[in-house]
Amino acid sequence: MSNPLSNVEMVRQQVATAARRAGRDPSAVTIIAVSKTHTIAEIEQVLAAGLNHLGENRVQELQEKWPTLGGRATWHLIGSLQTNKVKPAVEMASLIHSLDRDSLAQALAREAERLGAPVNVLVQVNVSGEESKHGIAPAELEPFLRRISQGGGLQVQGLMTMAPHASDPELARPHFRRLRELARELGTLGLPHVNLQQLSMGMSGDFEVAVEEGATLVRVGTAIFGAREPR
Ligand SMILES: *Cc1c(COP(=O)(O)O)cnc(C)c1O
Repeated sequence: MSNPLSNVEMVRQQVATAARRAGRDPSAVTIIAVSKTHTIAEIEQVLAAGLNHLGENRVQELQEKWPTLGGRATWHLIGSLQTNKVKPAVEMASLIHSLDRDSLAQALAREAERLGAPVNVLVQVNVSGEESKHGIAPAELEPFLRRISQGGGLQVQGLMTMAPHASDPELARPHFRRLRELARELGTLGLPHVNLQQLSMGMSGDFEVAVEEGATLVRVGTAIFGAREPR
């Protein structure tokens, strides 16, 4: 049986150990508990453990949980976002990790303008180049950031990536390192509304490697909640 409370403690320790190994301050890493498919009761156990950053990959599921849990956590939208769901997404999520195309940037910017407040986003980068993955190709990232920067409305807080699925977490390392290097290189351009401080990388199988490579946000589902039911 999976016990979210002790799992949270274990993940915290693993994050802290990985951070120290890399000479980093463990408090520079925020653990996002990825609560997709899990019940309110399960999520409440995680909140009780003091972890209050939650990640969902579908707007609709977030809307279902919102009436009960909304105000008790900081929500991250980590899955791909359709332009017709931008309004509820921005209402509920403090940070959208999955900005991956111009049409979405435009829709988010319009929503920001309507609200009169900037919308916080991460740009998802397809570092591995896998066709199945969403995200901006590394070579396209600079022009993409320049377009967003000119448009206004969005505040780019950093970059997000997903490493290819692999049994050996070391195989993810070059991808995470590449994301960190991209953030460093493009951060020096000094583009308005672009401040690449946040690196969202690492999931249950590879978050320790991601922390060693500079992750500031790790998205951990299974290692906290246990396996998800297929849906
Ligand atoms: C589901 C999901 C995660 C968490 O995956 P686990 O392997 O269960 O930790 C992280 N990031 C994204 C984008 C996801 O969709």
